[in-house]
Amino acid sequence: MDDPLQQSLQYLPGVGPKRAAALARCGLQTIWDAANYFPFRHEDRRSITVIKDLQNGTPATVYGIVDAVSVRQTRRRQTIVSIAVKDATGLLLATWFNQSWMKDKFTEGAKVLLTGKPQDVPRPAFSSPLYEILPEDFFPDEYEGTLAPIYRLTEELTPRIMRQIIHAALERALPHLAEYFPDKVLQQYDLVPLPEAYRIMHACNYPVEQLTPVTLARAQRRLVLDEFFVISMGLLLKRARTGQLPYTVRHAPPGELLRRFMAQLPFTLTGAQTRVLKEIKHDLLAPTPMNRLLQGDVGSGKTIVAVIAAVMAIEGGYQAAVMAPTEILAQQHYKTMTALLHDLPVKINLLTGSTPARERRMVVAELERGEPQLIIGTHALIQSAVNMPRLGLAVVDEQHKFGVMQRNCLRDQAEQTDTLVMTATPIPRSLALTVYGDLAVSKLDELPRGRRPIKTYVIKPDRLPRVWQFIRKEIAAGHQAYIVYPLIDESDTLPLKPATLMYEELRTRIFPELQVGLVHGRMHAQDKETVMRAFAAGTVQVLVSTTVIEVGIDVPNATVMVVEDAHQFGLAQLHQLRGRIGRGGAESHCILVDGGADVPDERPARGRAARAPQQPELLDTNPRSRLAVMAQTNDGFVIAEEDLKLRGPGEFFGMQQTGLPALHIADLVRDEEELKFARHLAETLLDYRESLKPETRDRLRARLQRAFGTSIRGVDAG
Ligand code: ADP
Ligand code: MG
Repeated sequence: MDDPLQQSLQYLPGVGPKRAAALARCGLQTIWDAANYFPFRHEDRRSITVIKDLQNGTPATVYGIVDAVSVRQTRRRQTIVSIAVKDATGLLLATWFNQSWMKDKFTEGAKVLLTGKPQDVPRPAFSSPLYEILPEDFFPDEYEGTLAPIYRLTEELTPRIMRQIIHAALERALPHLAEYFPDKVLQQYDLVPLPEAYRIMHACNYPVEQLTPVTLARAQRRLVLDEFFVISMGLLLKRARTGQLPYTVRHAPPGELLRRFMAQLPFTLTGAQTRVLKEIKHDLLAPTPMNRLLQGDVGSGKTIVAVIAAVMAIEGGYQAAVMAPTEILAQQHYKTMTALLHDLPVKINLLTGSTPARERRMVVAELERGEPQLIIGTHALIQSAVNMPRLGLAVVDEQHKFGVMQRNCLRDQAEQTDTLVMTATPIPRSLALTVYGDLAVSKLDELPRGRRPIKTYVIKPDRLPRVWQFIRKEIAAGHQAYIVYPLIDESDTLPLKPATLMYEELRTRIFPELQVGLVHGRMHAQDKETVMRAFAAGTVQVLVSTTVIEVGIDVPNATVMVVEDAHQFGLAQLHQLRGRIGRGGAESHCILVDGGADVPDERPARGRAARAPQQPELLDTNPRSRLAVMAQTNDGFVIAEEDLKLRGPGEFFGMQQTGLPALHIADLVRDEEELKFARHLAETLLDYRESLKPETRDRLRARLQRAFGTSIRGVDAG
């Protein structure tokens, strides 16, 4: 590719292979990456006060060099750390009480910024000021009187070098970051032109006197808008394109097959399942394609909904496809659905990456002949050129594990089909608006009857012996247990317990009398399958695993889940894991072993956790764990909200997984208003695309192509 923005940073003057490697550790490889590596904050250096100008009681920031560090004890055994800081005009004393570790923070000669309220002028002193220790090569004059961009660094890069590299990259990039909004739009909404917004954010060759918090905020707004606009436009174009495809599927109304299926169901549907199925039936019978999102917490019974929808499609002579994100889950669906459909004249096939070639050829041939059937698969189903001429329903399970762009790819894009997307992850409102804006939403807000809430405990690793004892008791009572680890193998950098090692330990030392199995993502599909089968059959009693079991696995006899190093996981992920138990009638227990540091006292979680009901007979929850919320609620929506607060949307949802361009500056929670505005602008521009100037169109197309690759078309199509 000869896109100048995709050129490697290595070829910038002064970079070279070694620095390029250091930059890559910050995720920076190309000119484009560097131009979009925005400072995480700006430091206001317009207001540095020289020491002789300090006034009692007027807050000020001082830049200086540490002249001396001292520690002393008062008679009341208080520790006082003080440092003397000097600048060209005078000396300032800064002190901290009872924080003896502060003495190790400062060394003589270090450059520091201190912010505080001066006392005792003319011998000024700060008590417990805010401080920032500046890097060796900090030049106070470099950004004096301005807003200095502060970038995240890796060890090998100093702030100054980082700034130089980014500025050099930006100069290269700017000619290709042309404004793509028509002038009229810029004027009407008072938007900073894109190139200017980049210069301002990076404080790169922009008049110093004009760099103010207000300019900065406007520049930031423009860049946020850029990211959201591109996403919105891409999705709108994609939708417009799909919308033009013919839709010829005509489902038959419910008949004998469905009636027979319902008659042999092993349970009665919940009210929510019945309601959702009515919505789905309505969509299927309508003369337009179904595009429905089914949200339902773990264990709410989404699978049966999918099967019933599939039966409706098959009844009318169509093929129904169910796509699962992992091989294990596809296998399980195959088993569950085969059992549910037994005695019915419905053909079921499984197609995954490890389907043997001969079988695969057979299945593919059947599909291509258009034989009605239920086909269950993994990515193999969409990636390969499997042609399903009679596809009438596509179900995508656990959508959050797939990309958005993949959603509609299940069928060769020649025609539209009815699509049901299922997820257990409650999607933040703002994201749903953008990414799923074209989907109708159904909710399974009710769990099947007879479920007992899972009891959850958050403990320290030193309580593990009691946990092992508890597992022995549960297994003696005929139940089974999961023990989950974050890693497969030992890691050089993370001090975590790996599944493979712990498997040996558990098998030989802790539970020598029990059948212990191991499953992880790097095992061969066949081996995984064997272990999962043994666990489902109850011959394996304790299953040691990684998060490969995170989604969908359904073994109702398992009543205990232990997650070691649980602090490594997000709350939403723990909730998914926990959803593997509590699926039968027996009481289930989830034990989260938190090997991380306790949260500081002021965290609100503590107060709430302390009041939470606990089961003293087993273990108490450590109320100071970040995970304490898990012990208080089994409600996936509450947990997802908490997770979103703790980690932010990027990490929560893993934007990479959505298949959308990465967000460098925009924040789905903070910038919700901008997101709506971006969508509005995208709709408007799409409507008026005929009247755009050719050069505007070219720029718009170039911007979209950079974000989505060549797959995006239609900016200039009529
Ligand atoms: P999820 O929504 O997490 O995919 P599943 O579809 O795997 O949930 O269902 C969880 C468990 O609940 C399964 O064992 C399933 O057979 C059972 N189940 C589903 N619906 C009902 C119901 N209406 N009554 C009783 N059990 C049900
Ligand atoms: Mg499921």
